Amino acid sequence: MRIGFFGAAGEVTGSCTLVETETARFLVDCGMFQGGPEARSKNLHALKFDFDVRAIDFVLLTHAHIDHSGLLPRLAVMGFRGPIYATPATIDLLHVLLPDSAFIQEKESEWQLRHRRRSGKGERGLPAPLYTVEQAKSSLKLLRPIGYRETLHAAETVSVKFHDAGHILGSAWLEVAVSEPGKTHALVFSGDLGMYDRPLLHNPEKVIPEADLLLVESTYGNRLHRPLAETEDEIVATFKRTRGERGNLIIPSFAVGRTQEIIYVLCDLVRRQRIEPIKIYVDSPMARAATQITFEHPQLLDAETHELIDWWRANQEKVNIEFVADVEHSKALNEIRSDAVIISASGMCEAGRIKYHLRQNLPRRECSILITGFQAAGTLGRRLVDGAHLVHIFGQPVPVRAHIHTVGGLSAHADQAALLDWLRGFHRAPGRTFLIHGEIEASTVFAKAIEDDLGWKNITLPHRGEFITL
Ligand SMILES: [Zn+2]
Repeated sequence: MRIGFFGAAGEVTGSCTLVETETARFLVDCGMFQGGPEARSKNLHALKFDFDVRAIDFVLLTHAHIDHSGLLPRLAVMGFRGPIYATPATIDLLHVLLPDSAFIQEKESEWQLRHRRRSGKGERGLPAPLYTVEQAKSSLKLLRPIGYRETLHAAETVSVKFHDAGHILGSAWLEVAVSEPGKTHALVFSGDLGMYDRPLLHNPEKVIPEADLLLVESTYGNRLHRPLAETEDEIVATFKRTRGERGNLIIPSFAVGRTQEIIYVLCDLVRRQRIEPIKIYVDSPMARAATQITFEHPQLLDAETHELIDWWRANQEKVNIEFVADVEHSKALNEIRSDAVIISASGMCEAGRIKYHLRQNLPRRECSILITGFQAAGTLGRRLVDGAHLVHIFGQPVPVRAHIHTVGGLSAHADQAALLDWLRGFHRAPGRTFLIHGEIEASTVFAKAIEDDLGWKNITLPHRGEFITL
């Protein structure tokens, strides 16, 4: 058997692992590379296997995030026709995320074309979009649902179980048994793991069998998240100050996961009477769809969330949530001068309706911007976090007078302590452990922590393009 690392090796995006035996060939995840100047070319050249993609029997998908799923349409365009197995909630989210990703690819391609024409360079050598909206939609037909803890016989020699990873709705870690003559290999793929005791989702499942081979994420293998209670205190302080000064509270947020978490936290703070009743506008079509999908999978939500939803149903006047659908309504929010909480995408303020709300509210001292997620270098969100006094939105200068607050306690990813906690669930140290989905520094620190805390040996940081034979 050989394992090939095609992405998320020494970095956090582009998750894609190939497993190949005499009788079966499959991928675990097929994600897009994101961020950085090389992402585009990496995506274009990502799925260059030393065989035809039609020889891949199936794909196992851990969750819907684009850095795990975003190249599935590309795989289909290249000729892959096999099934893609994922949980029902992941499939629902992909119906929103993949066409959106395609739309962004198409726009980017159009922009490059215009740019070339304008600069007189011609169109030769201009790459087509990675895939179109049409192609993304057609790839959705390959998806096949599989529930948590069901046994899937994906091939004659391969059986799989999906377990709740507590990362985003529908996320899973995978237990895979691969039979070869004289030996059955037990493989575990962590996918992305969530934090324990956080809003919305169940904790990551932790009863883990033995494994010959473990691939575990290490995004935050070198750090500890701040406690949620601290983040709540900061949100309360920001909310009260903004309310006192009669401004608006603007929250840039990723549509899937983070938006629902923020709604949970705000709702819970009102229930506990830590803040006054609020009016929340969720201004993002994708956030609206993702929230709808979240409600459609109540069994994936933890007991505390069910309690909170029951409370909210009886107290809707205290937390008035409005999902803004059309553009006119979105524009009308610009007229609101005070007391509104506006949650909008994109999370790093680079695209989407959030830009309009920032243009409107950044110049006003009485307003606050609450940053709750990671802001990559070079994004508008990052410039705000770094304390810029002037930013440019739609090519126009916008002075920054609003208060910018960053809270660090909301993360969909397990920190070092939570990762170690999950690893303690193994009955015995895996034969070999590969640390993936982490920057080199995070993975290196995490490898040391595993050796010191758990006494495990045989820990490897694979490189992109590397193959190992078992
Ligand atoms: Zn993820």
